[in-house]
Amino acid sequence: MPSTKYVFVTGGVASSLGKGIISASLAKLLQARGFSVTIQKLDPYINIDPGTLNPYEHGECFVTEDGAETDLDLGHYERYLNVPTSQANNVTTGRIYQSVIDKERHGDYLGETVQVIPHITDEIKRRIKLLGNEGKYDFVITEIGGTVGDIESLPYIESVRQMRWEIGTDCLVIHLTLVPYLAAAGELKTKPTQHSVKALLEQGVQPDIIVCRTEKHLNEGMRNKIALFCNVDPTAVIESIDAESIYDVPLLMRDEKLDVEVLEKMRMPASHLPDLRKWEEFLYKLKHPKNQVIIGLIGKYVELKDAYKSINEAFVHAGAVNECKVVVRAIHSESITPETVAASLEGLDGILVAPGFGNRGIEGKIESIRFARENKVPFLGICLGMQCAVIEFGRNVLGLNGANSTEMDPDTKHPVIDIMEAQKKICNKGGTMRLGAYPCTIAGGTKAMAVYGKSEITERHRHRYEFNNHYLDQYRNAGMLTSGINRKDDLVEIIELPEHPWFVGIQFHPEYRSTVASPHPLFVHFVKAALDFSLRK
Ligand code: GLN
Repeated sequence: MPSTKYVFVTGGVASSLGKGIISASLAKLLQARGFSVTIQKLDPYINIDPGTLNPYEHGECFVTEDGAETDLDLGHYERYLNVPTSQANNVTTGRIYQSVIDKERHGDYLGETVQVIPHITDEIKRRIKLLGNEGKYDFVITEIGGTVGDIESLPYIESVRQMRWEIGTDCLVIHLTLVPYLAAAGELKTKPTQHSVKALLEQGVQPDIIVCRTEKHLNEGMRNKIALFCNVDPTAVIESIDAESIYDVPLLMRDEKLDVEVLEKMRMPASHLPDLRKWEEFLYKLKHPKNQVIIGLIGKYVELKDAYKSINEAFVHAGAVNECKVVVRAIHSESITPETVAASLEGLDGILVAPGFGNRGIEGKIESIRFARENKVPFLGICLGMQCAVIEFGRNVLGLNGANSTEMDPDTKHPVIDIMEAQKKICNKGGTMRLGAYPCTIAGGTKAMAVYGKSEITERHRHRYEFNNHYLDQYRNAGMLTSGINRKDDLVEIIELPEHPWFVGIQFHPEYRSTVASPHPLFVHFVKAALDFSLRK
């Protein structure tokens, strides 16, 4: 292929229509035709990255191999494509402005007035082309966050207009809109789509393809009407009907020929069909489970749909492997006390204690872990969840009264979890945690070894605190195994209890690595342990 093709995905009418899923689905279809594809998200907010945003603002923060704290859509991209993303795949307005202002301070603009056009738009285009210039990708799909008409997304749309002008048919724009159904009128309405395309046209961009999110099927008349009013071919009006699972969307887009439309518009052959056999096998297993388990997800953001996105998706992947439906029951850690714990966790086949920061809900997490340990319920603790398991064991098995993490109680008598040496001098909050992939060595004969099947692994991290090695001997002598260690920095990465059927805590985040093609073995084994537990009951 001569050069990288650029596909832009914009959104109109409403937010949360699923631009990320449409982008990932198109990418999947192109990948299934043998192309190499990457997806990028441009976010119009001023934060440098979402690492400092709390989950109420922004849902989960997804962490890449190279340690970037990014938008959760990158999680979808990885789950669909099974290809790692990087810092370059997520750019915010804050990052764009920071680069431009740094250059200005450095004197790189030689006395020029620095302006949105061309300096900010040039920086946006540079960031878009960075991925294309790597020479690895046939397609770069760039999803533009926000909704057309937002003041803050103007420079991005302007950059799309310029790129379109500069590279012509190597560039294509897909606009995702909503076609609402008015129950009172009994009709789908195309007017919001027409207005949305007009708003895009006012900014100089004519979409090539319009994807219409809808709850009822579009008939031919409606497709023709949208085509006529929005200057696109009738075949370029694509229906995106509400789906049972986000994993259905690539197949729905295949049936609507979104990939064919893209390839034809870019003058590329689209003769054969994408090979989605593996994807279809996964979907079949997902939809035909033979068993069911209920996993309790203990966290403090359980009322937010997107706060534990990657964990929920990892359970979907692991459930399909085990041909088992995983019902994730979200339980608020603040509601769990010694009095309520038994009733709250009754009937669960597995307990997952979620990652997190700060004191809120911590005692409920510790109480849940005690319940899991004493009642031999399969347990997985992720990051703060693992740290809580160490605290629980310290307090209730070793008798270390008031054992805690110095994050929660800086003056605790027993700081069994303590800040890492390298973190002590750091004051800035943004991007300064222990982030991204680090190696870990697994001991033989352990559950961790049974899970991974090899002794050298890497996993992604996002934390400042760690197991305090001062207490290592006490823990080991009392039966807690430290089955995974980062040798270089002598950090405990995995703990487990050999006396328990399945009790594992990990300092890293396996959920970021789980994809449809490669479900994470820790989740696969945890679900299997939950299934065994449910069958024994
Ligand atoms: N707050 C803990 C730490 O910083 C755990 C972080 C997490 O769960 N991601 O070490």
